[in-house]
Amino acid sequence: MNAASSDQTAQSLRAAIRSRARSAVDVCEDALARIDALNPQLNAFNTVVADRAMARARAIDADPDSWRDAPLAGVPVAVKDNLCTAGVRTTASSRMLEHFVPPYDATAIARLESAGAIVVGKTNCDEFAMGSSNENSAFGPVHNPWALDRIPGGTSGGSAAAVASRITPIALGSDTGGSIRQPAALCGVVGLKPTYGRVSRYGLIAHASSLDQIGPLAATVADAALLLRTVAGPDAMDATSAAEPVGDYVGALTGDIRNVRVGVPRVLLEGVDADVARVVTAAFDVLAARGATLVDVDLPHARYATAVYYLVSTAEASSNLARYDGVRYGFRAAEAPGEGGRLDLRTMYARTRAQGFGAEVKRRIMLGTYVLSAGYYDAYYLKAQQVRTLILRDYDQAFARADVVAMPTSPTPAFAIGERVSDPLQMYLADVFTVSANLAGLPAISVPCGFSRGPNMAPSARGLPIGLQLTGRRFDEATLLRIADAYERDTEWSKQIPPIAIR
Ligand code: GLN
Repeated sequence: MNAASSDQTAQSLRAAIRSRARSAVDVCEDALARIDALNPQLNAFNTVVADRAMARARAIDADPDSWRDAPLAGVPVAVKDNLCTAGVRTTASSRMLEHFVPPYDATAIARLESAGAIVVGKTNCDEFAMGSSNENSAFGPVHNPWALDRIPGGTSGGSAAAVASRITPIALGSDTGGSIRQPAALCGVVGLKPTYGRVSRYGLIAHASSLDQIGPLAATVADAALLLRTVAGPDAMDATSAAEPVGDYVGALTGDIRNVRVGVPRVLLEGVDADVARVVTAAFDVLAARGATLVDVDLPHARYATAVYYLVSTAEASSNLARYDGVRYGFRAAEAPGEGGRLDLRTMYARTRAQGFGAEVKRRIMLGTYVLSAGYYDAYYLKAQQVRTLILRDYDQAFARADVVAMPTSPTPAFAIGERVSDPLQMYLADVFTVSANLAGLPAISVPCGFSRGPNMAPSARGLPIGLQLTGRRFDEATLLRIADAYERDTEWSKQIPPIAIR
């Protein structure tokens, strides 16, 4: 394995391949060797596509001229296993789709590959992207590279773990209520949820269609910017993708944030973990020292966001998941011995869904069906949609005073595997800071901003990563990236690599 490669970014790897300092084959072999060495401990990958990846790497090496201007030619990438990949199993970490091989690529995957990126594998996630800890995968939990007994965050936990442990410099995830930002924070990497409509959802296995967005995870802000640039933009296959022009996100990283007003909703810091409050407050000071102006903002409806999110998202999920009926996709329950040929349609549906879905997915289908049912619709679903509008207005008002709103990404650092599995409400509270951006359709980024100490830790010991979240105006990803990059330049957090990573 290449000695220096754990510091390598997508941009530096591309430069090395372009100048022929390294071959795409060498870089790809390196990423595959890292998967072999680390995945037994991390469980970050559901599927590794070694042969396919090596064939693509050889093709790039054989024809460097055609790939000269391709921004990611030869760069290995990990993609969440709810993004359809033609000819490669796509499971959404569910038994329901355990053997599903899509006949087409998600638009984001097609764009990645036309930019020359090499998909090395499909990453583990919570089943149908439902969860906050990656413990809801049918294929077992992902382990946090910083502490293997801890959760990596959910639901793009495999993508976050792959980047944190420097298996690949970049990865794609999806975010319905925090699933890119929260695992990015808990694993110490950068994660960005784009504005609703910025990235085509075509080929993303749907969780909640008015909230879902695909976005980048990366070790550095610059790589996140490059990856977003690659996958963003309108798409005829997704009517909700926006025509809004895609920015020069890499060019936006000037380091200059002197004209930026950072809104801080101070009350939201009350009640968060002491390490999180300390580290995030220190991050505000770094931004101020770089010339940003801190202003107080108020988000009066933020306390309803988790409740609203779990009404809206379960309603949409119950509808989206109706398609898994044993007929059109994936798993179908077998007849029991002796039933030969006598399984009626209803029994087949019921058994298929009983056996194919895990407990959390069933809980959400039941919740969502309930809140949409006649008699409860007005009290729950409609009310939630009304409060959703109030949350959106809170942000519009905050953006009259500030360019971005800053807060923690997660109220706590990574918790222990198993700690919250028996208490779904406790699990849902992990999302208090992330769900609003999805409800309001706004872009939001998480950038590493320090480490926990924990009550019993020696001051010298390094704890668990903590993330700073910045939420911005619709389609203003450039400002989020510029601030996060300026912050990254003044701090060392993004350069920290977990001990498990191969140097
Ligand atoms: N934790 C949230 C949920 O369980 C968000 C998940 C996501 O963003 N996909 O729904």
